[in-house]
Amino acid sequence: MAEQLERRTERAPARFGGLDYAPAPEATDHVQLRADHGLLIGGRWVEPASERRFKTISPATEEVLAEVAEAGEEDVDAAVKAARAAYTKVWSRMSGAERAKYLYRIARILQERAREFAVLETMNGGKPIKESRDVDVPLAAAHFFYHAGWADKLDYAFPGRRPAPLGVAAQVIPWNFPLLMAAWKLAPALAAGNTVVLKPAETTPLTALRLGEVIQEAELPEGVVNILTGAGATGAALVGHPGVDKVAFTGSTEVGKAIQRTLAGSGRKLTLELGGKAANIVFEDAPLDQAVEGIVNGIYFNQGHVCCAGSRLLVQESIAEPLVDKLKRRMATLRVGDPLDKNTDVGAINSRAQLDKITELVASGEADGAQAWQAPCELPARGFWFRPTVFTHVAQSYRIAQEEIFGPVLSVLTFRTPDEAVEKANNTPYGLSAGVWTDKGSRILDLASRMQAGVVWANTFNRFDPTSPFGGYKESGFGREGGRHGLAAYLDLS
Ligand code: NAP
Ligand code: MG
Repeated sequence: MAEQLERRTERAPARFGGLDYAPAPEATDHVQLRADHGLLIGGRWVEPASERRFKTISPATEEVLAEVAEAGEEDVDAAVKAARAAYTKVWSRMSGAERAKYLYRIARILQERAREFAVLETMNGGKPIKESRDVDVPLAAAHFFYHAGWADKLDYAFPGRRPAPLGVAAQVIPWNFPLLMAAWKLAPALAAGNTVVLKPAETTPLTALRLGEVIQEAELPEGVVNILTGAGATGAALVGHPGVDKVAFTGSTEVGKAIQRTLAGSGRKLTLELGGKAANIVFEDAPLDQAVEGIVNGIYFNQGHVCCAGSRLLVQESIAEPLVDKLKRRMATLRVGDPLDKNTDVGAINSRAQLDKITELVASGEADGAQAWQAPCELPARGFWFRPTVFTHVAQSYRIAQEEIFGPVLSVLTFRTPDEAVEKANNTPYGLSAGVWTDKGSRILDLASRMQAGVVWANTFNRFDPTSPFGGYKESGFGREGGRHGLAAYLDLS
């Protein structure tokens, strides 16, 4: 099916909007890659007791970047014990003002080493350097700054309550925002006085490991943050460990449900941030060029590897044709390729497994009867790539309208009235995010209150800020991250 689609696309235009773009690769020589990595347990890098290792690659070139340790049950146990000791002996006894100093230090070191982190993130994850440089790394630092500010003000954040930390937090994160998700999870946990065992995703361990170095450089007391690389089994062992008081997970709904079953009845606290199938709703009075930019930003930048990606476009029937035409014209100018090139808009798909999943879902869309159009770009010979794709003639029942594709694939549906837009927007098992494009403020407020989505953007998309709580409804999970709500998830407020 992928081959069929390939035949239908034309050759890439050599020029973009009348401009030629010479290659502008970001230098990588300031990133010292280490051949192998241990586990961060109790403040030291140690060899895995499991004696197992795995390779991590660049999805853009399939080149091996490093070998990392695969933590087994014994390693998980050692890390949880180290976190417990640090919690009881040091971190829970330290004043908030002292904890804040460490968090400020981490934030500042991240800023100082921003370029190194951005390049490493792009090498290991495949996302365009302009995304990692302008979004991921600055936001990661911002999360540490923001939560550092709360560490000594918890009594003011929750007046009349006596906020107390929970203990040891197990945190399992995905591959789409490897450093940023680590920061989202670590910063509130540490600010609130908990210690942590963090497991990054199998395909993107390198920036989390380097964050471990930053944590050492900031001289955090040993065992406050422990980092275990590994695959799903490591994550399962960690969340199921009886020494853990709180679990925070971001990833697929399937694994989220399994974790919920593991924790059922244990009394341990859990927050889940799972998938999404966001509707981006465009009314006929919207500024169309601006909306097209928002749609492109919402689904094609970052290869659609975003849980809150605007993967369904709901467009008012009267403007469906001109909007889709404009969108295709814009898609034809997207630069797909080397993620280290500063001009690249769409980078590599994170893994072969994810590419297979996207390819399979796109094939199902064609088989169901939807019409695919793909940006006419050339794809590099090596690595994992998928052309920005838009589906029209999509029925709500199709898998491409219901399931999370997690790739640069948009499904277009139409509506006539605001009620129909809300009904269609809510017609998925998910409820993470949504977008509304209209000139009318009252319509924005009306739709925002009727849509089952944790975040609703108006006349913009995919904007983030550490002060703003983020999280889902329905199968998108529960609990919030960011803001005061996110802090509360790491505290006992009884
Ligand atoms: P995933 O399996 O849910 O992975 C998320 C994290 O959980 C990873 O660190 C993963 O380790 C770990 N994990 C896997 N099985 C586990 C288990 N039984 N217990 C505890 N932890 C476990 O997601 P994925 O396979 O990377 O991606 C699958 C789909 O999830 C994607 O296609 C996409 O639809 C969705 N997704 C959503 C988000 C989001 O932000 N909400 C992010 C990524 C993916 P490994 O990496 O080693 O498997
Ligand atoms: Mg997995």
